[in-house]
Amino acid sequence: MSDSDESNKPQKKYNDFDCPNCNANNPYDEGITDGAEVRCYYCGQEFRARIDESGKLKLREI
Ligand SMILES: [Zn+2]
Repeated sequence: MSDSDESNKPQKKYNDFDCPNCNANNPYDEGITDGAEVRCYYCGQEFRARIDESGKLKLREI
């Protein structure tokens, strides 16, 4: 029986982000994980979230 075959790397998750475009802080209750698409509520720009190996959140404009 194998009840723990999930990756043992902790999945880093952010609950907010600072918009690189307008610097506004956007709370994100559903959580931002690696590969997620997020949208700034202030300027409307969409970003692809990447979380690197050191756990830093990076955003690229879509
Ligand atoms: Zn913005």
